[in-house]
Amino acid sequence: MKTAKSNAKAAASDTPKTRIAIAHGDGIGPEIMAATLSILEAAGAQLEYDEVKIGQDVYLKGMESGIAPGSWDILRRDKVFLKAPITTPQGGGYKSLNVTVRSTLGLYANVRPCRAYTPFVESHFPNMDLVVIRENEEDLYAGIEHQQTGEVVQSLKLISRPGSERVIRYAFEYARAYGRKKVTCMTKDNIMKLADGLFHRVFNEVAAEYPDIESNHFIIDIGAAMLADRPEMFDVIVTLNLYGDIISDITAQVAGSVGLGGSANIGDGFAMFEAIHGSAPDIAGKDMANPSGLLHGACLMLVHVGQPKVAETVMNALLKTLEDGIHTGDIYSEQHTKQKVGTKAFAKEVIERLGQAPAQLNAVQMGDNIQPIEVKIRPSKAIPKRLLGVDVFLDWTGERRDPRELGGILESLTGDQLMLRMITNRGLKVYPDGFPDTFCTDHWRCRFVARQSLHGMHRSNMAAPDVIYYDIIALLQRLMSAGLNFIKVENLYEIDGKKAYSAGQGE
Ligand code: NAD
Repeated sequence: MKTAKSNAKAAASDTPKTRIAIAHGDGIGPEIMAATLSILEAAGAQLEYDEVKIGQDVYLKGMESGIAPGSWDILRRDKVFLKAPITTPQGGGYKSLNVTVRSTLGLYANVRPCRAYTPFVESHFPNMDLVVIRENEEDLYAGIEHQQTGEVVQSLKLISRPGSERVIRYAFEYARAYGRKKVTCMTKDNIMKLADGLFHRVFNEVAAEYPDIESNHFIIDIGAAMLADRPEMFDVIVTLNLYGDIISDITAQVAGSVGLGGSANIGDGFAMFEAIHGSAPDIAGKDMANPSGLLHGACLMLVHVGQPKVAETVMNALLKTLEDGIHTGDIYSEQHTKQKVGTKAFAKEVIERLGQAPAQLNAVQMGDNIQPIEVKIRPSKAIPKRLLGVDVFLDWTGERRDPRELGGILESLTGDQLMLRMITNRGLKVYPDGFPDTFCTDHWRCRFVARQSLHGMHRSNMAAPDVIYYDIIALLQRLMSAGLNFIKVENLYEIDGKKAYSAGQGE
């Protein structure tokens, strides 16, 4: 009788081999990569490998991003990368390799499926089966940070419409391709009305194009709480980079173990696959690590390179192994473990079960021909934009950090075209009409708008007058001549007919 294993092998033997780049990584990386590759080979995966050097050794040779320049050529050529975890050396100056690879190769979507394996791996949520899709290139991860005054630093959160649209469309296409029913968006747009508001707005626009998929939105704080308490209510979640980073760890943890999860980083024509955990130096070289996370990542890769039946065979053998109580130490439990094994023995047990399906856990079923998800975003259009004013940020303390003193100085420097509308400190309005008790730092945002607007802005039927760049440059010259230290200037625009800046608390 033909088994699923022999069917998969027969089908695979007709499949041309795909060249992929692999990195063995640091810590437990080489052990779990060896285990993973042995299982893939036994399952008949049609792959050839090019090894790239990344990680600790490369960092310590002085390459601050942890990847040797020659490795980029291999990655660009093979376009598929299976990566074991690496160790980022302690101390300053080292850039995150993951962030570098994701942004250099345009890997805009991070996809983390997460399901429970109860009762074989303990979790409070036996019916949990969800996928977190995290925007992977933008947000605070751009690492654009500045110290602006002695007391204040800033980290810029940049969110773009195309970046948001790409990952959100990917989430809906993913839901369709994998038979998922609902996509949930999570943002904090009650506070970040522009940045998170854009992501939520684009989500609503895209959701309207997928009437077959249910959609909803959670504020991230309650969304994260619900994930920790009732993860069964979620199906596909799409969110911004930082929130996605946090909630994907919450989901992995509540599912049972970070040792089990794999992830895909998807771009246009390039993809990287990995385990979600790190290099676990505490158990490195001891044949203790669970290879399931990387194996899971490798199965996502097999689907991506058009070998879904091999992925199905491997995943079902993995599930059967877990179900048979063959467990590594991280998922050991007295109740459910029949045999506690090391990395090598676990791989051997999975190989022995290739062709078998789990009896209790839901078996994985893949279509023969899962097409890679392609996302097309709307072309950008020219959007009308008008300059309405400027926020000038000052490093100032004066005698007593008194906003009324600063307000008085600035009122005398506004010139004929501009007027001072307000001063805020850490976002809170302190002039005019501030509270004397408000604590003030040395960092002041001073908002100037066109002088006529004093009347016009209060009458909704009158448009706010334009400011010209020269007005701003002349203002800065006056501030400089008065000995004021400006640290940053943000122009205030009306874009597409709407005021495109935050009002500031208390305005
Ligand atoms: P970690 O994920 O390596 O380890 C956390 C805990 O989980 C440890 O107790 C570890 O023993 C255990 N663990 C992790 N994977 C396991 C597995 N497969 N089997 C059994 N137990 C496992 O996180 P960490 O300790 O915070 O980080 C260690 C190193 O990994 C750091 O240098 C960090 O920068 C790096 N890291 C790399 C990646 C990556 O390459 N994608 C991701 C996260 C962390």
